[in-house]
Amino acid sequence: MVGGGQAGLSMSYCLRRRGVEHIVIEANRVGHEWRERRWDSFCLVTPNWQCKLPGFPYQGDDPDGFMVRDEIVRYLEDYVAFFRPPLVEGVTVTRLRRAASGVFELTTSDGDCTADQVVVATGPYHAPSVPRMAERLPDGIHQIHSSHYRAPAQLPEGGVLVVGTGQSGCQIAEDLHLAGRQVHLAVGSAPRVARFYRGRDCVAWLDDMGHYTRTIDEFDEADAVRMRVNHYVTGRDGGRDIDLRAFARDGMRLYGRLTTIRGTTLEFADDLKANLDHADAVAEGIKDAIDAYIEARGVPAPVEPRYVPVWEPSGQPGRLDLAAAGITSVVWSTGFRRDHRWIEAPVFDGRGYPMHWRGVTSAPGLHFLGLPWQHSWGSGRFEAVGRDAEFLAGHIDAARRTADVCSTLTGAPLELASALPVG
Ligand SMILES: Cc1cc2nc3c(=O)[nH]c(=O)nc-3n(C[C@H](O)[C@H](O)[C@H](O)COP(=O)(O)OP(=O)(O)OC[C@H]3O[C@@H](n4cnc5c(N)ncnc54)[C@H](O)[C@@H]3O)c2cc1C
Repeated sequence: MVGGGQAGLSMSYCLRRRGVEHIVIEANRVGHEWRERRWDSFCLVTPNWQCKLPGFPYQGDDPDGFMVRDEIVRYLEDYVAFFRPPLVEGVTVTRLRRAASGVFELTTSDGDCTADQVVVATGPYHAPSVPRMAERLPDGIHQIHSSHYRAPAQLPEGGVLVVGTGQSGCQIAEDLHLAGRQVHLAVGSAPRVARFYRGRDCVAWLDDMGHYTRTIDEFDEADAVRMRVNHYVTGRDGGRDIDLRAFARDGMRLYGRLTTIRGTTLEFADDLKANLDHADAVAEGIKDAIDAYIEARGVPAPVEPRYVPVWEPSGQPGRLDLAAAGITSVVWSTGFRRDHRWIEAPVFDGRGYPMHWRGVTSAPGLHFLGLPWQHSWGSGRFEAVGRDAEFLAGHIDAARRTADVCSTLTGAPLELASALPVG
C-alpha cells in the first residue's frame, strides 16, 4: 500500500484478515491529511455513524454528530493501535514501475523495494489547484490555498476574498464571517444540501433511500459523476445549512465566478443569481425526493416548511477594487489537482485519472483505493472506503492464489506468474 490514510489502513486491515503479506508505506504520519491540511475549526460534514472503517466503526457517544479535526486524527490513530498494521511512516514512494521480471519496483526515500501487487492509496487530493490568474494579484495581497488556511487570525487585518464555494470555500468563508472579518465571496456553481429535513439529517434519509449503495455503473455519465463538486453544508456546532444568502443578508459580499484580475480590479461573471438559484434548486430537489420516499413508505415524519430565500442579488457589481474594498488577503478554495506522475504504468486517461473498475486497473497487480466515486458515493470518504477495500482484498488474494498455482504448475518464477491478469 502506498499511503497510510483511511484507505491504506482499511486495505491493510482487509488483507491482514486474509493473511496476505503486505506493508503500508506512508510519506508522513497517519492522519496527516486531516492534521496538516484542515483548518482549526474543521469538522466532518458527514455524520459520525458514516465512519465505518473495517472492523472499527465509530464507537463514540455522538453517532449523529460530526467529529472535529483532532477527533478524526485520533480515530485514525486508534485504528492503528487497534490492529497494528505493518506501517512505515516518513517514507515517500517516488517511483513505481514494473520490472522486466514482472514485479513492481518501488523507489522510496528510504531505498528500493519490490512488490507483486501494489495499491495506490494516496488520497484523492494531491496538489493544491490555484488558477494562474493568481499570479496577477498585486504583490501586497496575501494569498493562500484553502489547504493552508488555519484560522482568521493567520490572515492580515482587513477584508478577505474567498474564491470558490465548494465545501472548503463555504466553510472557510463562514469561519471568517463568524470571526467578524469582512468577507467577499466569489460564488461558483456548487450545489448545496440542507442539513436537516423532516426531523432528520438529510444524510440519514438518503441512506435509507439507498442513495449510498448506488454504484457508478448505474450512471450513464460515469466520468461526469466522478468530477462532480460536493454539495455544501456543514457539521459545525452540531450541523446546520450553509446559506450563502443568509451570509449576504448579514454583511458578506457575494459575487459571481471570478474571471479576471486587472491591476487591483477583479472581474466577476454575471452568474451569482444563477449559482444561488441552482444551489437552492438542488437542495429543494433533494427534499422533494425525501418527501416522495416518506409518502411512498408512509414513514411518520414531521412536516416542515420549505426554504424561502432570505436575500436576492440585485445590481451585483461585476467588478471589485481590492484597494477600495480594503481587501488584504485571498483564500483560493479552488480544489486540488491529481498528481500520479511517479507511477509509470499505462493506466491513465487524458485527464490523468486512473482507468479502473472498482480500483482494479488493466495493469495486473496495480490497484487504486479511495478515489472519489471509485465505486459509490462513499468511496472517497469514510462511508464506503472499507467496502471497496474488502472487494480489492478479495481480488488481490485471488491473484496471489492464482500466481501460486501457475507457478507450481508451470515452474515459472512466482513474480512472473503474479503478473498474470485475474479473471
Ligand atoms: C476539505 C475536505 C473535507 C472532507 N470532509 C469529509 C467528510 O466530512 N467526510 C468524509 O467521509 N470524507 C471527507 N473528505 C474526503 C476524504 O475522507 C478525505 O479526503 C480523506 O483524507 C481521504 O482518505 P485517503 O486515505 O483516501 O487519502 P488521504 O487521507 O489523503 O491519505 C493519503 C496518504 O498518502 C500519503 N501519500 C501520498 N503520496 C504518497 C507517496 N508517494 N508515498 C507514500 N505516501 C504517500 C499521504 O501522506 C497521506 O497520508 C474531505 C476531504 C476534504 C479535502
